[in-house]
Amino acid sequence: MLKTFSAGITASLILAASAFAQAGFEVTELEDGISMLANARAGNVAVVEAGDNVILIDTQMPPFLEDLEAAVMDVTGGRAPTLVINTHFHGDHVLGNAHFAALGAGILAHENVAERLANPVQSQLTGRTPEALGEEFLPDILVSQAMMLSRFGVTGEVLHYPDAHTDGDIIVYLTDANIIHMGDLLFSGLFPFIDLDAGGTVNGYIAALDEIIGFTNAETRFIAGHGPLSTRDDLIASRDMLIEGRARVAALVEEGHDLEAIQAAAPLADFHEAWNWGFITTERMVWTFYRDITGLTQ
Ligand SMILES: [Zn+2]
Ligand SMILES: [Zn+2]
Repeated sequence: MLKTFSAGITASLILAASAFAQAGFEVTELEDGISMLANARAGNVAVVEAGDNVILIDTQMPPFLEDLEAAVMDVTGGRAPTLVINTHFHGDHVLGNAHFAALGAGILAHENVAERLANPVQSQLTGRTPEALGEEFLPDILVSQAMMLSRFGVTGEVLHYPDAHTDGDIIVYLTDANIIHMGDLLFSGLFPFIDLDAGGTVNGYIAALDEIIGFTNAETRFIAGHGPLSTRDDLIASRDMLIEGRARVAALVEEGHDLEAIQAAAPLADFHEAWNWGFITTERMVWTFYRDITGLTQ
């Protein structure tokens, strides 16, 4: 439908893309056959219909799975996913895997996702160790680097960023539609979680954003792992905040301050109002920079 309008009208229609609520999820149809499904409490999900294939990008977690399934079925006219793509191993993106595998979906993920789900390590940020997950949650189609999605009927590819958010992140680039599901390589307008216990690094995260900014354009639409549907400007803002924030903390480390003194100096004070949120508070962001720079947790 949109293609019949002039370019200028299309642009404004895209921003007003039809959004409606379904079983606790806000569903936004981005293109014919590509929808974003969001609730505020776990990672954003996308549904891609391509011929006989129904692809679900990330699976959220209990207690949302019945509602998520209902929203997916509503979008697809009753067709269950045939393929799940996991952007990475964190629970709010994969704990629905078994639910959708039981409906018949295969599960595609980076090979490090399989390893981390089966052999979890403790997070120094939260102190928690995730439970090891059974066979029914594990991916059965493993990606080591990039992979074209043509065998699933989709013009697009998955791209791997090895040392950004975790060591097993992939993004899903739907090239024809100019839409990317970023997984947790984008916390839009929020301090990002950079999982230093699982292969993430601040400079790797900055480099990943930089590379993606480089091959996309002002029309590209980005589904963030967390936060609203985004544009390339949101990636640029996130990258620039990380570069500036890390440099400020590095300067304090260089002057010989310890973590306590750096927290007291509040180097991210002017970022607080815009970027602070429940999980990655300003204090946790400072901690992340400090640990990334020094290798120390206190
Ligand atoms: Zn997440
Ligand atoms: Zn994550």
